[in-house]
Amino acid sequence: MASSHTVLMRLVASAYSIAQKAGTIVRRVIAEGDLGIVEKTSATDLQTKADRLVQMSICSSLARKFPKLTIIGEELVVWVDPLDGTKEYTEGLLDNVTVLIGIAYEGKAIAGIINQPYYNYQAGPDAVLGRTIWGVLGLGAFGFQLKEVPAGKHIITTTRSHSNKLVTDCVTAMNPDDVLRVGGAGNKIIQLIEGKASAYVFASPGCKKWDTCAPEVILHAVGGKLTDIHGNALQYNKEVKHMNSAGVLATLRNYDYYASRVPESVKNALVP
Ligand code: AMP
Ligand code: MG
Ligand code: MG
Repeated sequence: MASSHTVLMRLVASAYSIAQKAGTIVRRVIAEGDLGIVEKTSATDLQTKADRLVQMSICSSLARKFPKLTIIGEELVVWVDPLDGTKEYTEGLLDNVTVLIGIAYEGKAIAGIINQPYYNYQAGPDAVLGRTIWGVLGLGAFGFQLKEVPAGKHIITTTRSHSNKLVTDCVTAMNPDDVLRVGGAGNKIIQLIEGKASAYVFASPGCKKWDTCAPEVILHAVGGKLTDIHGNALQYNKEVKHMNSAGVLATLRNYDYYASRVPESVKNALVP
């Protein structure tokens, strides 16, 4: 019988190629021009043909390669966001979009794969589009160049399309030098590891376990920290509720500075 370690590494390798294939589907749907947009719970909670096709592609590929995944499912759980940043995808902000595959072991996020289908789109019509970032706790994170925001600068990245008073109150309390409002949880973690932002602050429910699982592994693998707004670690066992009800706080460095500035009023409004 294969050890869980061998299964994990096979799973990471498969998820890498599965995420790359997902990226080609994300680009194809845009190229074909019919997004097939459906509203899920509201006008800012959308699903497109790309969400549906990628979901099917990832799930069928995983099921084919790992027919026994449900058997070890007690311990290994895979959290998939077929398209993160769907709202931005429908508005043409294509570099905000990622495909997220996160792997949890006994409730802890331990491996993550992020495909960014439109990476490099600014480089002109001949540029090769897309990249895959991946990481395993204790091994490292790969597929990008780690960079930090200049020391002393507080650049906050937060939601572009799901803001509210709690979100803005919390961002303001960080005393930011700059605030970036972009789509996608995956995209915001990429900003943290590439020196574009110092903290990802989202003091609201709305973000789900499949949004944070892969991104938190990449961040943790390079020494960063992602928690809810109270500082609690997120759990990824299969029975856990999907909603990150107490928001997200993530940084590459200086986590304590940002955690210490979350207002009590914001904490009181967000129940884990
Ligand atoms: P954002 O930072 O707004 O791009 O959100 C990151 C992820 O959380 C995306 O997958 C969003 O769809 C999801 N999300 C955040 N807030 C909400 C909300 N109010 N309703 C539905 N999805 C949300
Ligand atoms: Mg998402
Ligand atoms: Mg999604």
